[in-house]
Amino acid sequence: MRIGVFGGTFDPPHIGHQILAADAAAQLALDRVLWVLTPTPPHKLGSSISADRTRLRLVRAAAADNPLFEVSTVEFERPGPHFAADTLAALALRYPQAELFYLMGGDSLRDLPTWHEPALFLQRCAGVGVMRRPEAAVDMRRLEEVLPGITAKVQFFDTPLVDISASDIRARAAAGQPYRYLVPPAVFRWMERLQLYRSLS
Ligand code: ATP
Repeated sequence: MRIGVFGGTFDPPHIGHQILAADAAAQLALDRVLWVLTPTPPHKLGSSISADRTRLRLVRAAAADNPLFEVSTVEFERPGPHFAADTLAALALRYPQAELFYLMGGDSLRDLPTWHEPALFLQRCAGVGVMRRPEAAVDMRRLEEVLPGITAKVQFFDTPLVDISASDIRARAAAGQPYRYLVPPAVFRWMERLQLYRSLS
């Protein structure tokens, strides 16, 4: 079983996330994409993030209509900060037979050496699925020098550049601007029902 590990804050999840997950699944021949909800990511400490249970509701709604998508709350089971290397270890316990493919953008690949325990991270995944981005071209030779073994693990995939971000959606909701078609219909319904992001803090 080949499992894609797709981590995010998903505040809210949007169609950019769905498109990425579907393209990764198709091009990396994944049997499943796990949407791993991050309680409080290290780089977002201090910013205000919607309640975990609210984001869980939204991400479940975004993942519900695709049988390849599954939501994982594995990061809720240990205190933060939540580093990718530790998440992979937790997922390996849960899915002992699976090969785990960590999904990320080209910019994150470039920054990988600065991540917490990058060598351990690499050792713990079968592959790294990287969204190819012309503007974030990665010098693999240099990366290989800093992080030996990375080249063999990286698999690029293509997905359209969808200029949608969760922060823009939050700003639109706060300003009373339309955001309906930027999110899956079920997410839109929850956002309206819960009146999410009506004021930005
Ligand atoms: P924010 O605007 O609050 O920073 P975001 O839209 O980037 O949020 P995250 O939950 O932080 O959403 O993203 C989870 C993952 O999805 C990250 O790896 C991010 O690079 C990727 N991602 C976010 N938006 C897009 C998009 N439009 N197309 C492809 N990938 C995306």
